Amino acid sequence: MTAPAVDREGFLAALDHVVGDAARPVALHEPTFPGGEWEAVKACLDSGWVSSAGPAIERFERMLCEVTGAAHAVAVVNGTAALALAYRAVGVAAEDEVLMPPLTFVATANAAAQLGAVPHFVDIDPADCGLSAAALASRMDKIADRRGDGVYNRESGRRIAAVAVVHVFGWPADTSAVKAVADAYGLPLVEDAAEALGSWRGERHAGCLGRLGILSFNGNKIVTTGGGGAVLTDDAALAAEVRALATTAKRAHPFRYHHDRVAFNYRMPNLNAALGVAQLSALDALLARKAALADRYRGAFADVPGVRYRPPPAGTRANHWLNVLELDVTTIAARDALIAAAHERGIGVRPAWDLLHRLPMYDRCPRGGLDIAEEAEIRLVTAPSSAFLA
Ligand SMILES: *Cc1c(COP(=O)(O)O)cnc(C)c1O
Repeated sequence: MTAPAVDREGFLAALDHVVGDAARPVALHEPTFPGGEWEAVKACLDSGWVSSAGPAIERFERMLCEVTGAAHAVAVVNGTAALALAYRAVGVAAEDEVLMPPLTFVATANAAAQLGAVPHFVDIDPADCGLSAAALASRMDKIADRRGDGVYNRESGRRIAAVAVVHVFGWPADTSAVKAVADAYGLPLVEDAAEALGSWRGERHAGCLGRLGILSFNGNKIVTTGGGGAVLTDDAALAAEVRALATTAKRAHPFRYHHDRVAFNYRMPNLNAALGVAQLSALDALLARKAALADRYRGAFADVPGVRYRPPPAGTRANHWLNVLELDVTTIAARDALIAAAHERGIGVRPAWDLLHRLPMYDRCPRGGLDIAEEAEIRLVTAPSSAFLA
């Protein structure tokens, strides 16, 4: 094992400085409730509208459109369900492949696998840790077989049905570069912006360039509805399709129960949406606190040998969902020793994710070279980022 080049005591002291006198252990990300959440949830209970219909759902969806600039938002039970709906809406079906990066939360792959599709891993861009347009282009160059009814992987024989971009840590990936490659092959782009509410690249909010994008409102995300997610799109027909798929494909009718195909029950309950409305009304305040905390990390790690605060990609305005530290280590064992030392101090530093192509259910999935992702896995760690720490 290579000894870590990181100054361990300096690393721990800088973390101590950032989290200050917060109660230990300090978790990676916990919710903050500054927006009248108690009152909003109580009002919802008092109204009796707690389930899959009610005024807070529409209000929450409208607010999501205002915040992101998307023309349509469909609120659903969680981000994983939102992804499955988005993949399905662009035509992903059993035995298809979905191109995606391996450095992401497992849901990006699970949502495809739940439809019977197969993740196909492509490397990340070192600048933003999202899917690399260059790696995608060279992978397609190697494997794509254009046929009358679509693009096929000539090695596996399976149809390639979609490309998924992920905005990891809340860092906006270079979606337009990836989209150019996807467009050249006629492949629909789905954006996993689960972590990226409030993140922008240029004039565009994360999740709003692909055919569909998704958000998560899990308890560890920047805004929470307890559990929840949303599908974003500018395409009215796709929005209607997602809404139908999420609502048991029930035909609108004043009293009949008529369903015209097999579909899901994935709509967000009004009770969760009520919490979401209160949280979204505090989004600007939450983003300001997140930015202040990021500044504190930047300052605290300015002079620690062997570790640096990794800022969001240049040219973006990120939500700072998770603060990322880049370690000068060459093995996962060295990384894990530093993480363990932080945990002994009660500071919940964590690795990003075990790369998906190493998980047992995905370790035989097709892939291109994944060198950049494999280096990121070793060198990047995430540090406590709750808004209330600022
Ligand atoms: C959180 C997350 C999801 C899934 O969201 P849930 O609401 O937890 O189902 C999907 N993708 C990424 C990248 C995430 O971080």
